[in-house]
Amino acid sequence: MDKRKCKYLILGAGPAGLSFANRLLEQGESDFLVLEKEKEAGGLCRSMHVDESPLDIGGGHFLDVRSKKADDFLFRFMPKEEWDSYERDSRIQIGDDLIGHPLEANIWQMSLEKQVAYLKSIAVAGCSLGMPVPKEFVKWIYWKLGDRIAEDYMIPYNRKMFGEELERLGTYWLNKLPNVSFEETLLSCLTKKAHGTQPGHARFYYPKKYGYGELWKRMAEKIKDRILYSTDVRVIDFTANMVNNSFQGEVIINTIPWTEFQELSGMPEYLKEKIKTLKYSSVVIEYIPEKLAAQAHWIYYPQKEIPYHRILVRHNFCPGSKGYWTETNKERSIKREDRFSYENKYAYPLNTVEKPENIKEILEWCRERNVYGLGRWGEWEHYNSDVVVERAMDLADLMQG
Ligand SMILES: Cc1cc2nc3c(=O)[nH]c(=O)nc-3n(C[C@H](O)[C@H](O)[C@H](O)COP(=O)(O)OP(=O)(O)OC[C@H]3O[C@@H](n4cnc5c(N)ncnc54)[C@H](O)[C@@H]3O)c2cc1C
Repeated sequence: MDKRKCKYLILGAGPAGLSFANRLLEQGESDFLVLEKEKEAGGLCRSMHVDESPLDIGGGHFLDVRSKKADDFLFRFMPKEEWDSYERDSRIQIGDDLIGHPLEANIWQMSLEKQVAYLKSIAVAGCSLGMPVPKEFVKWIYWKLGDRIAEDYMIPYNRKMFGEELERLGTYWLNKLPNVSFEETLLSCLTKKAHGTQPGHARFYYPKKYGYGELWKRMAEKIKDRILYSTDVRVIDFTANMVNNSFQGEVIINTIPWTEFQELSGMPEYLKEKIKTLKYSSVVIEYIPEKLAAQAHWIYYPQKEIPYHRILVRHNFCPGSKGYWTETNKERSIKREDRFSYENKYAYPLNTVEKPENIKEILEWCRERNVYGLGRWGEWEHYNSDVVVERAMDLADLMQG
């Protein structure tokens, strides 16, 4: 189907585009078309079959149990019986210790000498002394967690993930991180159990027989006659609401990275300059067939000499599988021809200090022209898939009145 004119033109068939389109369909609206660059749907949430089992090519992907609205919607495509539910077991390799995550709630798992050293450093951190909250991420790490956790884990780990851009990150997004006070860290050491707010995915779902990508394949199947694959979107004309000089939508829903557009006709120069300030990082996934003894679902590695920053222990959440896969910032990745690997150019939208103001202006200007940014790239936000689904449902509901 090649429908050149429609009510809703949706750019990208990742979770955001698929959820928006399927929500429209649930409401009886079928006048839409989805344009997708790849040959299949699912975006960062796709899976492939590698070494006889599923592997998530966008990195480790788990469905959080916290969003009932999103989960109920998703279970309509892949019923709850097809998922296993897990209590998160994630660890951090610190020297020879494999410590629970978050580190500040689990230093009780270290030797007494180390506990004292870490506690001392948190006790004199800016946060404990009532100093003002810094606006830069690196300074915030020292302020919140003290120099031991900063230098043994948070700084080297985040530098591996974000590279040189680490210095440009702000602090407005830190509600994503666990929040553990000094008192809670102390309590954890005394009671030998974690205290404080838990990180995301404290409990999560993973498909019993498939990778995470199966969910989105099923969503795409429901609208298969309304998705055009292998369609690389590069041009948008805001004066006529046209894309690639071929497709026109009364409303355009953009879920692809704004930096993908080579031509943005009708957009003022100052906004085009703002788009150029939007930064991202790229992640390479590599599969290693070895079976590990670790019980964890995933492990974080702050060590400089190890290229990857996280491993996903597949056989601990994907029944009947073996092996693990690594996540490495592309800048640090060394390609090995004898291993399966997949490169995700757009993995993390970076939360630079200037981003909130810039993306706000871009989105407001576009909205006045019936072009809406949605999802991880459309809104340039570090959203997980359940959040993207919920936002897509809300936007579709709002538009359908
Ligand atoms: C390493 C990693 C781990 C993650 N772990 C989790 C997790 O455990 N749980 C969770 O819920 N979320 C997780 N996420 C986040 C999750 O991947 C995103 O929330 C989700 O994929 C966002 O969906 P989206 O549709 O907004 O973007 P995407 O998934 O990126 O989809 C965008 C779509 O647009 C298409 N596109 C791009 N450019 C063009 C173009 N020029 N023309 C046409 N189409 C184009 C892409 O091919 C893609 O299909 C993780 C992300 C990463 C990187």
